Amino acid sequence: MSVLIVGSTALDSIKTPTAENPRLLGGSASHAAVAASFFSPVKLVGVVGDDFPKKYIQLYGRHGINLDGLQVKPGKTFHWSGEYEVNMNNRRTLLTELGVFETFSPDLPKAYQSSQFVLLANIAPALQHHVLDQMRRPKFVVADTMDLWLNIALADLIKLLKRIDGFVLNDSEAHQLTKEDNMFAALKKIHKMGPKYVIIKKGSHGSILSGPKGFFLCPAYPLHTVVDPTGAGDSFVGGMMGYLATARGTVDANIRKAMIHGSVVASFCCEGFGLNRTTKITRQRVAQRVKELEKLTRF
Ligand code: AMP
Repeated sequence: MSVLIVGSTALDSIKTPTAENPRLLGGSASHAAVAASFFSPVKLVGVVGDDFPKKYIQLYGRHGINLDGLQVKPGKTFHWSGEYEVNMNNRRTLLTELGVFETFSPDLPKAYQSSQFVLLANIAPALQHHVLDQMRRPKFVVADTMDLWLNIALADLIKLLKRIDGFVLNDSEAHQLTKEDNMFAALKKIHKMGPKYVIIKKGSHGSILSGPKGFFLCPAYPLHTVVDPTGAGDSFVGGMMGYLATARGTVDANIRKAMIHGSVVASFCCEGFGLNRTTKITRQRVAQRVKELEKLTRF
């Protein structure tokens, strides 16, 4: 089964204390789509301008990503730029040029509307609603978000929480949404807002799932060097959804393993700028790290 992924498709200019890389392939949907493609076919919905490099279209193609839902509009591709501090955790946005993203309407090709697994990657909640309005009875819908939408589109986001099965956010966003410092208390409050599955991401400290079968503490793969963590969260949720879309059995039975696979793909993402490293790995490399992670956490 394939996974439908809707989100931003961007050019990212990233600065770290040691290097600077302009106009890399980025965006929430790009990271999530490449991550999901290791496990299942992917249908991508996004928008790019006529300046979008052909090599990036080819890169999506090499990952077998269906691009019938990728709109190419006259104008500039969404351009985001960020700078990391020495600790590689704190990030400052330097620039956001919306370009064709400003008027983006995620209209789904007919063949996409019956998708069973849907990832609403980080975009404005109003656009995430628009996607759901076009869907025919999806089996499992997960949404991601960012602090910007908690600041400027909270009412839309709260309404969205009633329409989705799973919600993924990071620890500072969970705090912002619930005013809880304790993540287990925050998870409880977020369930009350709608979603049956809530996942709080904690960067290099892994993530916590709260679902019908209780909690799951998902580790991050230990890395000695982080080159660029941009898109790690998107890779995590993309990998998780790709795994779920092809796994046999129920979401309940598979979601823990799916998170582990997402966590491993996210670790590769951090080892290179943008998608440079993720696009060079294989399913076998993912499987190896999953085994290592299993050894590290079994007791
Ligand atoms: P993450 O590192 O998981 O926070 O995701 C970083 C990705 O989010 C980058 O590739 C950006 O292109 C993308 N991004 C940044 N700002 C926005 C925004 N306002 N809406 C959608 N995507 C964004």
